Amino acid sequence: MTREPANLSVWQKPAAISAAFGPVVDRGSVDLAVIGAGFQGLSAALHAARRGLSVQVIEAAGLGEGASGLNGGQVIPGLKFDPEALIAMLGPERGATLTEFSARAADAVFDLIAREGLKVPHRRTGWIQAAHTETALLAAAQRNRQWRAHGADVTLLNQAEIALLTGANGYKGGWLDRRAGTIDPLAFVCELARLVANLGVNIALNRRVTGLRREDGGWRVTMADGDEVRATKVLVATNAYSDALIPGLAQSLVWLHSFQIATAPLPSELDDIVLPHGQAVSDSRRILLYFRKSPDNRLVLGGRGPMRVPRGPEDWQHLERALKRLYPALAGLPIERRWFGRVAITADFLPHLHEPEPGLLMVAGCQGRGIGLMTALGAPLADYIASGDAAVLPLPLSPIRPIPLHRFRRVGVAARIAWYRMLDRLER
Ligand SMILES: Cc1cc2nc3c(=O)[nH]c(=O)nc-3n(C[C@H](O)[C@H](O)[C@H](O)COP(=O)(O)OP(=O)(O)OC[C@H]3O[C@@H](n4cnc5c(N)ncnc54)[C@H](O)[C@@H]3O)c2cc1C
Repeated sequence: MTREPANLSVWQKPAAISAAFGPVVDRGSVDLAVIGAGFQGLSAALHAARRGLSVQVIEAAGLGEGASGLNGGQVIPGLKFDPEALIAMLGPERGATLTEFSARAADAVFDLIAREGLKVPHRRTGWIQAAHTETALLAAAQRNRQWRAHGADVTLLNQAEIALLTGANGYKGGWLDRRAGTIDPLAFVCELARLVANLGVNIALNRRVTGLRREDGGWRVTMADGDEVRATKVLVATNAYSDALIPGLAQSLVWLHSFQIATAPLPSELDDIVLPHGQAVSDSRRILLYFRKSPDNRLVLGGRGPMRVPRGPEDWQHLERALKRLYPALAGLPIERRWFGRVAITADFLPHLHEPEPGLLMVAGCQGRGIGLMTALGAPLADYIASGDAAVLPLPLSPIRPIPLHRFRRVGVAARIAWYRMLDRLER
């Protein structure tokens, strides 16, 4: 696990949650073992338990110590690709299915929070994709046209409008997607865990699964200390934090580090200037910046960081420089939090769903946009696990394809990030 003692975010666990879960695995035999307690694992566990399956969740770290508790909390529908690109890549039927599914990804989060009364600070005032060049503005117009054709509540922003909505310097215009919003992601993962546990599902923390063996038509799941659970089916929900458990899975992804900083709470005189309506923002740079306000009114800004584990505050300095450029008025405000986590990228920038052996499922690769997607996938994953009918899945099942020369790919990615960062600087 790459979580360092200094990896302290602004997100808050609801009171008393940490005491509620321990390391004990209380089931010897279940219908479904879920490995990994992020949004994917917990949402699938929730829906599987509601379909009457017995479920055991096993998590190698503490609650929210994977990407689900460390992310930017921007709940954005859709994928990196727009509807026309998805249809060109996957064909009319698959492309349309994935478009419709991804369009509802943010609803899955906000509906769950509302329906279950989850104690998750949230706002649904939209997400702005901020264009830093004229070319990016043209791309925003294309995106707007395609999503409006799908009935989405989206609109283009001109330079004056984006300046008013963000208070940030340097954007030519952008695109506002009102289906999106922000949450405290750590609160969401903790509240999901509480919901799942209330259905009688045991969630064992700080227990790493080290072995999976097929046995009597099911699976024997072995933990690092030799403890075992038998399960009819297994969901490996380890995503960017995948280890050697499933041969080739970690090598089918490139994981990157995304870094974030948070200022001290903003002074009240900036309330009407910095993101006055609470939208989330990501920009159009190749190495994009994303920012929002936290529930306790700090500015939270994120972007790519070094591929290695950070050594000290200097590894977040590029974000501090970006913050000053976007918001000169915040230059004197102390940076009070710095943290990072892993984002899983696939070779085709689409999430991948695998079942390398019958009853052994996994989804990986969210390209930094997994809050809505992984939450929404819980229901169809549970349907498939319960019914065996692949038609309920919004993604095609595909073989695990390790990326050729994977070891060197990470070096290549680091070089490409440096190159893209330089191009972004030239376009400023
Ligand atoms: C810094 C950052 C910012 C991001 N910002 C956003 C954003 O604003 N919006 C958005 O939509 N997405 C964002 N993302 C992406 C999003 O967080 C992820 O796509 C999502 O959380 C993935 O959920 P998951 O459940 O699949 O994986 P995770 O939450 O990573 O859960 C995987 C879990 O598996 C566990 N595990 C691994 N191996 C084992 C094992 N052998 N045994 C037991 N457990 C194991 C890990 O400990 C981990 O807890 C961001 C990600 C990061 C890192």
